[in-house]
Amino acid sequence: MITGSETKMVIGTQWGNEGKGRIIDFISNRSDVVVRFQGCSNGGRTIFACGEKFRVNYMPSGIHHDGKNCLICAGVTLDLEKVSDEIEMLKEAGVLKARLTISKSCHLILDYHKKLDVLDGRIFGHDKNRTMVEQGFGHSCSDKYRRMGIRVADLLHPDILHDKIKENLNVKNQYFTKIYGEKTLDPDEIFTQCLSLGERLIPYIGDPEDIIAAAVSRNLGILFESCDGALNDVGRGLYPYVMPISSLSASALAGTGLRWNSPMRIIGVAKAYNTRNDNGPFVTEESNAVAAFIRNRGKEFSGVTMEPRRVGWLDLPALRFAVKDNGVHALALTKLDVLTGIDELKICTAYIVDGEEKKMLDLASRDSWKAIPVYRNFEGWKEDLSSYNDFKTMPIQAQEYINFIEEEAGVPVIWVGVGADWGKALFIRR
Ligand code: GDP
Ligand code: MG
Repeated sequence: MITGSETKMVIGTQWGNEGKGRIIDFISNRSDVVVRFQGCSNGGRTIFACGEKFRVNYMPSGIHHDGKNCLICAGVTLDLEKVSDEIEMLKEAGVLKARLTISKSCHLILDYHKKLDVLDGRIFGHDKNRTMVEQGFGHSCSDKYRRMGIRVADLLHPDILHDKIKENLNVKNQYFTKIYGEKTLDPDEIFTQCLSLGERLIPYIGDPEDIIAAAVSRNLGILFESCDGALNDVGRGLYPYVMPISSLSASALAGTGLRWNSPMRIIGVAKAYNTRNDNGPFVTEESNAVAAFIRNRGKEFSGVTMEPRRVGWLDLPALRFAVKDNGVHALALTKLDVLTGIDELKICTAYIVDGEEKKMLDLASRDSWKAIPVYRNFEGWKEDLSSYNDFKTMPIQAQEYINFIEEEAGVPVIWVGVGADWGKALFIRR
């Protein structure tokens, strides 16, 4: 049951692109407070407001609704230019209606982070082993942990901001000139740019942590929305094929003011199959005609360049891990309709590693690099699922597929996604 006055979290249980957006949209409409607690500009969402479509990367869901509290907490890394442009665009269009609060503790991505990312690519090569390359995300996180990052709070103190930028460029200009043979960046120019972009953020800077604490004590509906897949977690993911931050549910406890003992319902989103954007290990990957069929039907292409995603069967050892490590209470299974018309479907039930059967992905080991998948085969269905909204009337083969995932993952599948249509084609099973 989804109720309004409850703290919920929506989290991806795979490698991102699970179809979190629609579930987040549905729950955020019924929530008073919507929280972005981790990530960067990878949280792309489409907003439909005033008869127009707006693409946003940073704004929490519900930003276009009066009366909602939309919070960006300390775990979010903000590309200053992107977030500032996003705020301006929504304000100009008159759709920034919610009360937006941005934490003083958010770290910023500035031009020199992006430049360093691009230049690093010349040495490491862009072999896709890191996602979000060239966007400065990793370099900004690195500065955060080296205690030299620029934070939202610094925008309120121009003198401190100026000193910190100068200090940073004292170091970074050495990299630019001595390692990369590039020109230096001018600290005053970066400072002036920061001040002018930062001006747009200043009215929204505050303490989302206090708003969350007050909302919890008043029993308001709060939604924590993740913008990533749990398997991309920097600590528990298949390193180095991960994001530079945590994407586990527990990361919401660090930097949002949420107390560890606050009751929380965690909804994990999983696609009915798996995809990956980067070059990391992918035990159930297929590169046959069925994979091409799923890729095309599921529109599994990324970014502006429409890079084809890697496609494979649903991986239960990975899903079981995500359910366990994130404390997932229930699953939303999306894109089931994409599998329509495939005669024989497969679900990976275990890995064989050095002759031994393993039911759970072990991220600390090198298992995923050498695991052989064990499959259970399922008869497919032919019916277009997009008009179904009752589990019991669905083709029996689809019911069996869902029931098996539910049993094996150990948590109920409460939502089923059966079509891309925004308003329809997602039904609540129970
Ligand atoms: P996120 O990266 O996890 O937030 O994924 P999005 O919410 O951006 O969804 C990725 C794409 O999948 C979008 O184009 C959605 O319209 C589409 N999508 C989501 N659920 C379904 C579904 O059940 N069926 C189909 N065919 N498409 C879906
Ligand atoms: Mg996305």
